[in-house]
Amino acid sequence: MERNEVAEDAFKDLEAKSAQEVLAWALERYHPRLAFASSFGAEDVVVIDMLARIRTDARIFTLDTGRLHEETYEVMEAIRKRYGVTIESYFPERAAVETLEREKGLYSFRESIANRKECCTIRKVEPLNRALSGLDAWVSGLRRDQAVTRGTLAKIEPDAPRPGLTKINPIADWSVDQVWAYIKENDVPYNKLHDRNFPSIGCSPCTRPVAAGEDIRAGRWWWELPEQKECGLHVNHPARAAESRPGANDDKAAAS
Ligand code: SF4
Repeated sequence: MERNEVAEDAFKDLEAKSAQEVLAWALERYHPRLAFASSFGAEDVVVIDMLARIRTDARIFTLDTGRLHEETYEVMEAIRKRYGVTIESYFPERAAVETLEREKGLYSFRESIANRKECCTIRKVEPLNRALSGLDAWVSGLRRDQAVTRGTLAKIEPDAPRPGLTKINPIADWSVDQVWAYIKENDVPYNKLHDRNFPSIGCSPCTRPVAAGEDIRAGRWWWELPEQKECGLHVNHPARAAESRPGANDDKAAAS
């Protein structure tokens, strides 16, 4: 049976399971060819806490774009010490970053969507693809109500652009209130930018705080339209997306 067939079969059963049950199933089935892609936002530290309670050698990787906030490095270190986990950092290819900055400067991503996607491709997508090579499955901390691009997210689904890879989204059905209740109840280390009105945290020059009542992802690439706020890290299952939203297949889905 192909791995994606396994994912399709498991989907119905796992959709009703808790996040912890989904993670336990995934670790049992795939470890060590399973890894969690973490950017250390609120959702991600919750998933790390749950993973570490199951097994401390659960694999965790992060994309160090070179443009992260200091607070992001601080929470990474706090998590590493608290749980005794290993964090696998993936950097962009040196030559690609050097060429980008030499030819277009340090803020080319503000000039056009194409330039922004070019930067995200160099600093995020290529390192992600390297991190995923050799894996059978990966875990995300995505939630359905984070963005218009994430409404059809399943707890387990084939990773549409990467045949043979399964994607697991254990807290797809959680609300933001559930995330923060878990952090408080379990005293989980979190990125202190969240206390300064940063609900969603990415690279420093592409993230700003949001005003009361603004969408939680309004502070990411704030100069772009909501449906353009994608960098290619996460792509919805095309069949499921198409079922629910006209034009959904045009999404090149969401950044973490
Ligand atoms: Fe570049 Fe901004 Fe994308 Fe980070 S979020 S990779 S700085 S465009």
